[in-house]
Amino acid sequence: MAIYLTVIFGLMGAAIGSFINVCVDRIPAGKSLTGPPSHCDSCQRQLSFLDLFPILSYIFLRGRCRYCGARIPLQVLLVELGCGLWTALVFWQKGLSADFAVIAFFSLVFILIGLLDLKTRLVYGVIIWPAIGVALLAAAFILPQGIINSLEGSALGAGILLIPFLVTRGGGMGFGDVEIALLIGLLTGFYGVVVPILLGIILGGVVAIILLAFRIRGRKDAIPFGPFLSIAAIISMLWGVHIMNWWLKMFAF
Ligand SMILES: [Zn+2]
Repeated sequence: MAIYLTVIFGLMGAAIGSFINVCVDRIPAGKSLTGPPSHCDSCQRQLSFLDLFPILSYIFLRGRCRYCGARIPLQVLLVELGCGLWTALVFWQKGLSADFAVIAFFSLVFILIGLLDLKTRLVYGVIIWPAIGVALLAAAFILPQGIINSLEGSALGAGILLIPFLVTRGGGMGFGDVEIALLIGLLTGFYGVVVPILLGIILGGVVAIILLAFRIRGRKDAIPFGPFLSIAAIISMLWGVHIMNWWLKMFAF
């Protein structure tokens, strides 16, 4: 039974991933999310159900449009796969629980926020503020730490990122990163918020060093922090406590 549900939730995650791809395309362009129906960017043909089935359509069509043969961006497949596998993993770990619902929902939200930031260097108010609203409700009614602890976590997380934002006057760190930290703090609470922020800084630092070393990016190119913060938040929702314990042991506190 658990296996079937894992597959079903994985497929649901992949389907939401498919919708996330639509959002990443349309939100920056200011287009409607509900219409017109999906179409090929090259030949403008409207896509049918068979072209839009998550993951499988991409594989059967070998990454090309059925009508004109134009390449479908690899991002489409990767986001569907990532959302599907992660949702299945969260269900496998948490079972049918409030924990699962909260972690799966906000993982998908962070994937959307991270992708939009990667693509446009912006954190969109239409995504982050409703997400913060839902997180407040979750903190008040579902999350174990309770609303007060969540608000403290939010203040601490945003406070940590507000310092570099103010010091660099928005040059290095954008206010969007502060908004993401607000959301993370609500979900993790006061004691959990340090892990995703530190992890985000470590991930961002490692990738920046690799990009510089291989000269993919120059010293003056800004690398957006939001995507790393989003990945760190997703990882921390599932394994934050383990990571915290591991760090504490490593530094022998
Ligand atoms: Zn086409």
